[in-house]
Formats: sequence, structure tokens, C-alpha cells
Amino acid sequence: MDTIETRLAARPRHISPEEWQVRVDLAACYRLLAHFGWDDLVLTHNSARVPGTTDQILINPMGLMFDEITASNLLKVDLDGKLIEPSEYEPIYAGIVIHGAIYYARPDVQCVIHTHTEADIAVGALEDGLLPLSQWAMRFYNRLGYHVYEGVSLDMDERERLQRSIGNHPVLVLRNHGLLATGRNVAEAFSSTYHFERSAEAQLKIQAATASGQKIVVPDPDTCERQAAQFSDGNLARLPGQREWPALLRLCDRLDPSYRT
Ligand SMILES: [Zn+2]
Repeated sequence: MDTIETRLAARPRHISPEEWQVRVDLAACYRLLAHFGWDDLVLTHNSARVPGTTDQILINPMGLMFDEITASNLLKVDLDGKLIEPSEYEPIYAGIVIHGAIYYARPDVQCVIHTHTEADIAVGALEDGLLPLSQWAMRFYNRLGYHVYEGVSLDMDERERLQRSIGNHPVLVLRNHGLLATGRNVAEAFSSTYHFERSAEAQLKIQAATASGQKIVVPDPDTCERQAAQFSDGNLARLPGQREWPALLRLCDRLDPSYRT
């Protein structure tokens, strides 16, 4: 019988347990972005590298809302967008340009999350970008790339410039467009997205409050650097986002467990 329970328990036989786990995590990430209000209709895209490969990724099918994404409807494509497994869907071309650029240049990256939110765009449109004004923002101190807006990313030519803009940073601010957060797994990329959003929202409130004539207090550079270093020490056991990820999956299960199918 085809019930949600049987489908939740089922992993298609042609998909390895490792790949299925990444599919479930990435589908959960889509649901979480929708839950927090950080989706943008059927636009934007999030991806993860297929375990054991360098040149295959999982990405959303064009035309689905984020709360329709499941582990099994994610597309498997190469870094130039060619479908590796047949699907009735196609990937979003701009997603292939952007995500492919990062995976080609950064073997350490296993997940890329791309958002368009009002807070991302507002902070990215400020000349100084994100400032170290909150504890949320500390992890990004001197660890952000900035990319000048070139229009919708439909040109493979932009890949080289995206790669230069992100360098070795974990997060790239796409000015006037949105954000690109990377991670060594889905949980870490989601953690960066979450913290950037909260940082940006807080910064905009702080800056708006200066209209009353108040001056902004900024922590000293040594403190900011010390805090940022704690989040980027390369210790896999302490990657940001790991502690809360099981709780976030439980939240997804309560919202709608169909992401696991
Ligand atoms: Zn975009």
C-alpha cells in the first residue's frame, strides 16, 4: 500500500544511503528556508555535491515551490547542468552558472544555499556591507566576499568573476541580488544562512535607530577576529550548525515529513 509511512521508510534502491542522506538534508533545507520566509516563489536554488563525486550535484527542479521539494525530486546534474538521471524537470539555468562556479573552484564546499531576502539585499546594497554589530555577525568578520551585480547570471563567463569574488570565504554577498552561503555539509551552509539573515536584520534596525542621533557601538577588531576564528578553525567535529541540525530536522518532521520521500 502506498501510504506516507511506507514512502517515508523507502529509499530507492538505485540511490546509495550516503546520497539519500544528503538528499534528505537538502530537501529539509528547502523546507526550512520556506518556513523562515527566505524563499522567493520558485526562484533561487540550493544544491549539494553528490557524495563520492567531484562533478555531480543535487539541485531543485525549475517550477516547484520550496515546500514541494522532496529527497527524490531533486535533480542530479553535472556542473554544467546536464541531467545525469532522467527527469520531467530541468534545472534553473542561472543556478547552474552560480553553483557550478563555486563547486569547480572550491573542492571543500559540499553545499551552496542561495537566497534573495530583503535583509540580504539591503545590506548588500550598502557600500560597507555587513558590519560586526551583533554576535550573529561575528563569524563573518573579514570572511565575506562581495560580488558586483551584473544582471541575472545567465552567462558562463561570470563564473570566473564569481570565483574571484568568493575566494576562500564561506559566504558571498551578491550585491543588489542576494546571498550565497557555502558549507562543508548542508547543516553548516544553513547555519551561515541563518546567522547572516539575523545579522542583516539586526544591522538594519541598528542603522535605522541612528536617525535618533545615537552613535553605534562596535566591538574592537581583536574581539571580532577572535570570535570569527572560532567558527572557521576547520575542525570538522565543531562545524557550525551541527548541534541544531537534528532539532531542525525534527521541526521539518512536525511541519510536513513528506520532504523525506
Ligand atoms: Zn538569485
